Amino acid sequence: MGSPFLMSVPEHLQQHLEEGRALAAAGGYRGRFAPSPTGVLHLGNLQTALLSWLAARQASGIWLLRIDDLDTPRNRAGAIEAIQSDLLWLGLVWDGPVVLQSERRGIYHSWLSWLRRSGSLFACRCSRRELADQPIYPGLCRQAGHNWGWQRQRLPSWRLRVADDDPHGSGDVVLRRADGFIAYQLATVIDELSFGITDVVRGADLHEALPAQRSLFAALGEHPPQFRHGPLLRDASGQKLSKREDSSGLEPLRDAGMNAAAVIGLLASGLQLVAPGECLAATELLEHLTQQRINELIS
Ligand code: GLU
Repeated sequence: MGSPFLMSVPEHLQQHLEEGRALAAAGGYRGRFAPSPTGVLHLGNLQTALLSWLAARQASGIWLLRIDDLDTPRNRAGAIEAIQSDLLWLGLVWDGPVVLQSERRGIYHSWLSWLRRSGSLFACRCSRRELADQPIYPGLCRQAGHNWGWQRQRLPSWRLRVADDDPHGSGDVVLRRADGFIAYQLATVIDELSFGITDVVRGADLHEALPAQRSLFAALGEHPPQFRHGPLLRDASGQKLSKREDSSGLEPLRDAGMNAAAVIGLLASGLQLVAPGECLAATELLEHLTQQRINELIS
């Protein structure tokens, strides 16, 4: 692959890409789980974590934990610690240090300035309301040449100019939001590349983020990881749980006397991997599973 503008990507950014490429090229599976610390992990998040961990371990791969904590108003105090202790309690142990996106802002900003200087971005001043009925950004500000600064007390969002022949149907992806925050799409793509992620297993709710991510990988001239999405949590009758039903995490289960093996059993039975009521450690579950069985659950 290779995109023409990458010829002159600043050296330190190029170096990040090369380190990531080397990790990915080493041949093993490299996965990650990337929760946002907006609260405790819900059962749905835990089911996704389990599936992502199983897929990585089944492939004798690496499994990283990344905390998507850039959207600071949505972060909750104590959530980062709670996420780690819940995963460890369940036996879903990750490799290496936890990656905090908030500590990587400098890298994302360097990419933003580089993309902006190379003419790949444009300033968009469309309001949320103007775009409300548009499934895909219709390119309204593409040619407008808006400035990048404050105007009527508002900053523009920064959008990637996605090639007209881009096959992913994402439209021009927002990389910096109008509130000045680095967009999830940029941070996640840069991180997959820097950490040499080869395989992403995450919840089906993120399926809709895929076209934008694919467009961004393509614009950077890089190969995307393999993306697969697991089912959303269902209750015993097969209904999707509402946010409220799903919101409380492990605490009520622990209060009801469930240990880690009972919770792994519960999550695994939700995935139809074991019969309801079974109790087993995450590592025992792993021993019983074939790659094929895991693959049937993620697409
Ligand atoms: N932090 C995102 C979320 O929890 C997930 C990112 C991802 O897995 O790509 O919704």
